Amino acid sequence: MNKKLQLITTHNYSLINYLKVFQKKLQLLDTTIQPQSNQQNGQLTFITSSIQIYSLYDSSNLFYLTEDNDTINILLNSDSNTNGCTQWFHFQVQALKPTVTIKFKILNNRRRQQLLTNFKPYTSKSTCFDLHYYKTNIHHPYYANDDAQIAKYQQLMHFYTLEFKFTFQNDEIVTFAYAQPYPLSRALSLTDYKTVGYTQLNNPIIQIKRGKAKQYVVILARQHPSETSGSFVVEQLINIINSSKYRYIIYPMVNPDGVFLGNSRCNLHGVDLNRKWINPQLSSEPEIYYIKSSLEKYKQKITMMVDLHGHSTKQHYFIYGCANNQNNNNEIKNFIAKFQNHSLFHMKHCSLETQANRKSTARQTFWYQYKVQFSITIEISLFGSLNGRFSDSDYKEIAQQIYDSIEKCNEPIADQTTLPVIDCLGNDQDESDSECEQDFVFEVAQKRDSYKEPKKFLFKQKTIQTETQCVQQEQQLKKLLLPQIKKIKSMTKSEHKSSTKMEFENQLKVKQDSFQKNFNIINYFPQRNTQPKRMSSIKKDLNLNKCPQIKVDQMKNY
Ligand SMILES: [Zn+2]
Repeated sequence: MNKKLQLITTHNYSLINYLKVFQKKLQLLDTTIQPQSNQQNGQLTFITSSIQIYSLYDSSNLFYLTEDNDTINILLNSDSNTNGCTQWFHFQVQALKPTVTIKFKILNNRRRQQLLTNFKPYTSKSTCFDLHYYKTNIHHPYYANDDAQIAKYQQLMHFYTLEFKFTFQNDEIVTFAYAQPYPLSRALSLTDYKTVGYTQLNNPIIQIKRGKAKQYVVILARQHPSETSGSFVVEQLINIINSSKYRYIIYPMVNPDGVFLGNSRCNLHGVDLNRKWINPQLSSEPEIYYIKSSLEKYKQKITMMVDLHGHSTKQHYFIYGCANNQNNNNEIKNFIAKFQNHSLFHMKHCSLETQANRKSTARQTFWYQYKVQFSITIEISLFGSLNGRFSDSDYKEIAQQIYDSIEKCNEPIADQTTLPVIDCLGNDQDESDSECEQDFVFEVAQKRDSYKEPKKFLFKQKTIQTETQCVQQEQQLKKLLLPQIKKIKSMTKSEHKSSTKMEFENQLKVKQDSFQKNFNIINYFPQRNTQPKRMSSIKKDLNLNKCPQIKVDQMKNY
């Protein structure tokens, strides 16, 4: 059993096994069926002596598991076309005994810090207990690895284990997830949407309009699939907005493929969409390409852009804005001040930095390219406040607060002495910033891809470094990479233009392209016709049974 998992672990970091899961999932592709938390979703995927697991449905993520008495060891799928980003999990369990307590260990989380340390994972019934989050021991039998490449990789990037227990009663079906799931099918059940384009999986990129006026407000949600709190708030906003002051253009599901596949951060191509807004490519980030095209005719009229995200290391909700640190920023501070008395809002987490490494985010692109002064990200904690996870009524309250504040954004500036103090100098060295942390993961993954082990060591190196050596190595690497990644520097608009970060991004893109050249998953799909199709027809077109088999041997050498 151990050996089998070890083997699978080795392969988890190539595309091969991902594709197997992906193929299976694709066969079940039907976004008209919304997963239900207490009913069986998808097919039975695994069975152990005491439980059975369902994990092939819209937004699910569970790659492989093994049983060790009453402990279930779980591996998550990497984001499609990446070597990592594992964070989001979503699966269902049904007990085969009247009452049984199971310990779950999710072994390959990538995030070094998250609120899950204190807050419990989402469960559809009762709660889990005995929660722990700790560094996965690479000497663990499931992780000790004879393959030098993988061993090296494990030393560069640590994995973290999320451990929790749950007691099952009778044959109830329980859903477990990183945060409350909001699958693609729920977004597609929203009414009166228009489709502005299609993704590589032929999912529609949807747009909903509300209100009537000459000035526009753009709202985005769900660039990052694991950040479901953004979806719950945008759904409430869609219900609430009835404006005569602004025309709202809402994109409630920016990354439909990533959400459907159960990715944590990326789209089908393994691209973090919120780093691709300046110059999106139709081939690799069609989502952003189509959204920007659909906004082309309104771009002079946009007053505000609101990008809704979920945060995994901070509580409450808060705002990141853009400001030119050479001038006073009273307008944006005046806007953020409208939130300050709201009990779920946290002023101290707000920031007005314009860091070079965030240049191609939606927030900075709207600010810089479209000259939208009120261009903001709203981060809504995935784990709520001190009172626990946000409820539906909390999401409704947050949405109402956002809507009221947008409607009043151009009100005269209050007494300057009452404006909040918000950091815009780029001094925030907070290690837990989710965007920074994830960038670090990407850089290391890129570095690993360019790393070539000398042949003579390839199959011989068996010594695995000690934990202390690993930590030292990670720290060295971090020292090396962080100045590039977390270039803490607020920029003026003209500095923006000359930033060398773009060159850096281009280099990364070249690397990424060459990585994908060997096996481009898109080749596996039929070309989209000029007339886009609904997803429900894709199954028929694909004729899945006749799909060419992927030649595993060809892909091993990527
Ligand atoms: Zn995000």
